[in-house]
Amino acid sequence: MASSVAGPEIERLIQLLSKLPGLGPRSARRAALHLIKKREALMTPLADALQVAIAKIEVCHTCGNIDTQNPCTICCDTRRDPAILVVVADVADLWALERAQATRGRYHVLGATLSPLDGIGPDDLSIDALVSRAHDDRVTEIILALNATVDGQTTAHYITDLLQDAGVKVTRLAHGVPVGGELDYLDEGTLSAAMRQRTLF
Ligand code: ZN
Repeated sequence: MASSVAGPEIERLIQLLSKLPGLGPRSARRAALHLIKKREALMTPLADALQVAIAKIEVCHTCGNIDTQNPCTICCDTRRDPAILVVVADVADLWALERAQATRGRYHVLGATLSPLDGIGPDDLSIDALVSRAHDDRVTEIILALNATVDGQTTAHYITDLLQDAGVKVTRLAHGVPVGGELDYLDEGTLSAAMRQRTLF
């Protein structure tokens, strides 16, 4: 093991930072040094923000979103369309769709996708809650906004089967050419999906 260059408190800070996604030991060391140098401007406000987050952040009982209120801001927003439920695997996906202002519907966060290899089965996902929300008379469309991976699509098929008698339209995101994408650079799977799902011009 490499010898420590700083006291145990700083080593602990580096060790914790290195557990963040996208940060390895080197970048964690750089981030720790940056925080220490910007102690007043960054480190103290960050520590305060983390403490507030620990005290206030909750998982929305309705949709599974993360917020400082429960039900979350999106579930409470009366301007949202109650007819549309957008199903996502993770809160990160919900945030991505919100950043894109892609929908005015409400969400349902599954928590993961089905993954037999990782031991993730239907009981590990909030599927029962989704089925009961789908039976709400106001809901007319369920949009499956799941990853275009084997696990994502397996989950989509599983949910579609369960929603057969819910009296809702089940749709999924289109697969195809990304905005700004060049055909020559696309993989064969994406190209053939784009060709199959072509739309009227
Ligand atoms: Zn919510």
